[in-house]
Amino acid sequence: MTAAQNHQNRISVLGIGTELTSGQILNRNASWISARLTKMGVLTTGHWVVPDDRPLIREALELAAKTSDLIFVTGGLGPTSDDFTRDMIAEWAGQPLEWDEATWTHIRTRLEARGIPARDSQKQQCYYPRGATILTNNQGTAHGFRLQARQKNLIILPGPPKEIEAIWTDHLESWLPSQFPGLDPWVTRSWDTIAIPESTIAELTERALEGTTYERGYRVHLPYVEVKVSHLKSETAQAAPAIARVQEALAPMTALRDGDDAFKKLGRLLKTFAQIQIQDGVSGEYLSTRLLSAAPEVARKSALSLHTAVQEASPDFDTLVLTVRPTASREARAEFQWKGTVRRLPLKSPYQSSLLADRERQYFAEMAALFWGAELERL
Ligand code: ATP
Ligand code: MG
Repeated sequence: MTAAQNHQNRISVLGIGTELTSGQILNRNASWISARLTKMGVLTTGHWVVPDDRPLIREALELAAKTSDLIFVTGGLGPTSDDFTRDMIAEWAGQPLEWDEATWTHIRTRLEARGIPARDSQKQQCYYPRGATILTNNQGTAHGFRLQARQKNLIILPGPPKEIEAIWTDHLESWLPSQFPGLDPWVTRSWDTIAIPESTIAELTERALEGTTYERGYRVHLPYVEVKVSHLKSETAQAAPAIARVQEALAPMTALRDGDDAFKKLGRLLKTFAQIQIQDGVSGEYLSTRLLSAAPEVARKSALSLHTAVQEASPDFDTLVLTVRPTASREARAEFQWKGTVRRLPLKSPYQSSLLADRERQYFAEMAALFWGAELERL
């Protein structure tokens, strides 16, 4: 049975907010949520958007419940008078709202850490319909929640996309599959290749996949060309030889696999070093921002000094020194220095125009991170 035939595997997404219906912002949340469920093999039966209007929210909930068993609702969990999603859900579910003290602590702690006193209006964010499971939000004040009512599952999420992503990672990613029996999700394998044009990469991949119908996709995200091959989970064994052929064809130019990231990988490998010095004479803030967002634990666990210029003073013997420095116009050099050994990799910008100076800086930083990662792996 396909997802489309199985009523158990249908979801819908209801976006609440006048800024959505007025055309001020685009309903990105619905496409983000549906893209993830589609990948799992779940069908979306509709995206609805209604303004901050009680009767319309009521109608939309009825409509969503008619076509799906799991309803996502986004927006309207904030502290202002136009945020009343929780009241509407409680009413629809026929459950009273109940105070949750831990949410109040979360809100106060979060705001006070930013020097903002929590206001009384924020207390409305601490109420949930009876029986709800709270989905904590580490990116904002408003937690989400899920609730079973009238034989439906409702998942209520705040409006800001980055908060939805955080709740997804922390709570929904692992829980959702259990809600859909008999799914045949998509499995995607990917290769981030480097330094070879997209057309060549595509040709190699197509040759390796000849005679198969597995879905392929190419995406340029500089300095990488990403190749993706997807098949249904039930086809895993059957697809294995084709995947192996792609792997073999792309191995020489593959920098990263299956969505890994140069800076995340570097972060993992740096974890065991107590003292690290990174000297970046090429990328401005790019390299440090990338590293600290991809691997914040490195800064926490090691004595990490990050310089946005190359330092001349030589650091002590027990410090791992990672440097990337400009050497000439459109050229740079990555260096890896550990316990008296120095390795170097010259880098040449693939960009011809000074209009692409930003890309060039990013390119050098990504290449340096890949090089450092490879050197660390060899130790
Ligand atoms: P807040 O506490 O920030 O008010 P909220 O849960 O009340 O959160 P809304 O007030 O509905 O959420 O939306 C807050 C912001 O989130 C909006 O201004 C908008 O930038 C973004 N947002 C809301 N809904 C969507 C959506 N469907 N798609 C993309 N962005 C959205
Ligand atoms: Mg709001």
